[in-house]
Amino acid sequence: AKRVYLFSEGSKDDRELLGGKGANLCEMTNLGLPVPFGFIITTPTCREFFEGGNQLPNLLEQEYRVALDLVEKEMGARFGDPDNPLLFSVRSGAPVSMPGMMNTILNLGLNDEIAAGLARKTGNPRFAYDSYRRFIQMFADVVLGVEGEKFEHEISRYKAEHGKTLDTDMSAEDWQAIIAVFKQITDFPQDPFEQLRLAVEAVFLSWYTPRANVYREMNNIPETLGTAVNVQAMVFGNFGEDSGSGVAFTRNPSTGEKTFFGEFLFNAAGEDVVAGIRTPQPIDALNSGLPEVYDELYKTQALLEKHYRDMQDIEFTVQEGRFYMLQTRSGKRTGRASIKIAVDMVGEGLISEKEALMRVSPEHVEAFLHPMVDPSAKQDIVTIGLPASPGGATGAVVFSADEAVEVNRDGTAVVLVRRETTPEDIHGMKVAEGILTELGGMTSHAAVVARGMGVCAITGAGGLTIDYEAGTATTEDGVVISRGDIITLDGTAGEVMLGDIPKTEASSSEDFQVLLSWADKHRKLKVRANAETAEDAAKARELGAEGIGLCRTEHMFFESERIPLMRAMILAEDKRERKKYLKELQAYQHADMLELFKVMKGLPVTVRLLDPPLHEFLPHTRDDMEALATRLGKSVETIAEATENLNEVNPMLGFRGCRLSVVYPEITKMQVKAIIGAAAEAAELGYKPFPEIMIPLVVNVREIRLITDIIDRGIYKVLKQKSISLPYRIGTMMETPRACLGADRLAPEVEFMSFGTNDLTQMTYGFSRDDAGRFIPQYLDKKLIENDPFVSLDQRAVGKLMAMAVADSKARKKGIKYGICGEHGGDPRSVRFCHELGLDYVSCSPYRVPVARIAAAQANV
Ligand code: ADP
Ligand code: MG
Ligand code: MG
Repeated sequence: AKRVYLFSEGSKDDRELLGGKGANLCEMTNLGLPVPFGFIITTPTCREFFEGGNQLPNLLEQEYRVALDLVEKEMGARFGDPDNPLLFSVRSGAPVSMPGMMNTILNLGLNDEIAAGLARKTGNPRFAYDSYRRFIQMFADVVLGVEGEKFEHEISRYKAEHGKTLDTDMSAEDWQAIIAVFKQITDFPQDPFEQLRLAVEAVFLSWYTPRANVYREMNNIPETLGTAVNVQAMVFGNFGEDSGSGVAFTRNPSTGEKTFFGEFLFNAAGEDVVAGIRTPQPIDALNSGLPEVYDELYKTQALLEKHYRDMQDIEFTVQEGRFYMLQTRSGKRTGRASIKIAVDMVGEGLISEKEALMRVSPEHVEAFLHPMVDPSAKQDIVTIGLPASPGGATGAVVFSADEAVEVNRDGTAVVLVRRETTPEDIHGMKVAEGILTELGGMTSHAAVVARGMGVCAITGAGGLTIDYEAGTATTEDGVVISRGDIITLDGTAGEVMLGDIPKTEASSSEDFQVLLSWADKHRKLKVRANAETAEDAAKARELGAEGIGLCRTEHMFFESERIPLMRAMILAEDKRERKKYLKELQAYQHADMLELFKVMKGLPVTVRLLDPPLHEFLPHTRDDMEALATRLGKSVETIAEATENLNEVNPMLGFRGCRLSVVYPEITKMQVKAIIGAAAEAAELGYKPFPEIMIPLVVNVREIRLITDIIDRGIYKVLKQKSISLPYRIGTMMETPRACLGADRLAPEVEFMSFGTNDLTQMTYGFSRDDAGRFIPQYLDKKLIENDPFVSLDQRAVGKLMAMAVADSKARKKGIKYGICGEHGGDPRSVRFCHELGLDYVSCSPYRVPVARIAAAQANV
């Protein structure tokens, strides 16, 4: 197959083949935009390269030499010709955008002779030797694996010795001296064609750099995709004062506002902007300096946004007052921005409601819900930087990515403080609550990555002086922030504060509500919440829950006031004593349920009967036992013995769930009385209660019959006594493999089935969900599993059990309602799966409800 494409031969639809960057370079070329010409080596060639044992395919060089000739003609210069040299950038570009993850080599094609020729031809020796030293540095680093630090170190030393500070202080002679030193550090090929061949190989190899691996894993990018190689004629932002490089977003990537937003560095190569080693100026600087170039940039960005119908992130360079486009892609943005942009674009007639829904990632919705620093609580602002990624974050200061991971291991919140970040810091940024950098602008690595991850960040806090050795960051006023200190970042304002500053709960916006209303319009799956308290239920309703899918009654008994009663009930020596305590518990349960029914006004409330092993309620320390003994007027020995008796080797597979109802039917009777009694009272008060009683951990139909009988009688008794009629349902959890495998037999006895995918996953895998944390990281590391099955539903096996249960029970009886109430109910991928299974609802924690609403809509459009 054809392995090499000219920029004039592809289009934006060729991402798979040419990579995102290459496809867009082609598209821009076809649009007539000023793109330096070049060619692309395809992504299948990358696979060929690895399959062939890291060897370029035989004819590849001949193929790209043909393309190279054509580029030379177009550019009017020649690769390897000292009198009229053409230089190339060799750029990676995967089908999915992985900014900064793989390698780029610039100024390729320079050697001693050609550098001298370039100086002669341009009459700009300073530029020529600056470019040459940059090339040596990059080539040595990327291709030859020489540490980049070494070169930077030599430059610093030279500057110090010669009393220079900035790169711009360096003359042609200075750079030539540097080049001489560089050549002692590294030995690189002088032959341009050999340079090119090695660079192409290096770009392919960069597909497997550790940082690219981490990025792929984080973003679920398949490693089979491979990268394309873009070989493009160089243009030079470091040519002089009427040159420079910039990056821009067609809309504000933090807020989503429709304002052109960018940054520019005069007399600098693009790498200087992207790396964040110099803090660039706002794009207005270009407007004042080179207004005609600014006009062209402005028109171009508007055209690109309209053409792609999405916010674009563009990279451009200006050489001697001429404008060149180097890249465009869909811009990364914050959750807030993604929602605003999607809603605005529907308003502008650029996209449809359905498209808008697909533009918003569930993670973005979540980020939108992040806390903000309470404006009225702000104090001790010690320094200010750029508001790179919004939200508020508090944590202990760490100074490296490794340290962040280390300190965070036990869940301690950390704020990662760095001079700047690089792709090597990703693992630390991932676990950090917030990120603070001394250097870099709004489009620096730290800013872009943090926004994408929805992590609060402040960049370019130039007032800080960071000392990695000492583990301190000192503000301009001399305030010293040390390793381990607690600080708060306000990423929305760019303010750094000492201590833990209170945060307000995430606010809602009109755009967000509009988008959610579109989601509701376009989804089939209903979304309920898991909630036990009136407060959670109210929050859930506010966030759009259409009922409670799981009320875990045991949570109502864990409260400090109630747990002694629960303990007394469990330790009762006979039925009479037990009933006494059950009566008291019933009053509490009744009161709680009443509150829930009031809040949920007519929406279904699924109440699960007591589920956990009883010993979870019992005292475990000697002190607790003594306190309980005194309270119950029993001896400590009795308590200790009873506790001991309830101990189980394998409690999660032990005496719990409906097994409790089998052994202690009086507990179930109490619960039914409380639930239905509360419903009756709510009805009398004019609310429209809709209780659904759910039996946990069922394995066969006889259990259901036995317990349904208890429930039916209880309900009948209450309703008769109150002389009232209520809607209600009785159903079962589907959380044992046996229940799923025998769903056809359970069907006739139930009105709903709710998949408890936490237990179902635990039992399908035989992974204890309380202990799996010890080995799951290793499983993920060694790629024995792709995702933690407790986070994202295992569709292959657990999903198969679910699918079977739905199909078999449906075949037996129509009209059963199906739901899911495990943690997976709020996981977007799992939500999609539930939609595909044809479930009626998902149930998740209140804060996940908006995420689930969007995910359900995305599954359906
Ligand atoms: P990334 O995928 O990390 O964005 P790029 O391939 O875009 O890497 O290259 C990084 C930077 O190198 C660009 O932002 C740009 O400033 C510079 N660059 C790439 N190609 C050229 C070129 N042909 N001329 C001038 N600068 C270039
Ligand atoms: Mg780029
Ligand atoms: Mg369970």
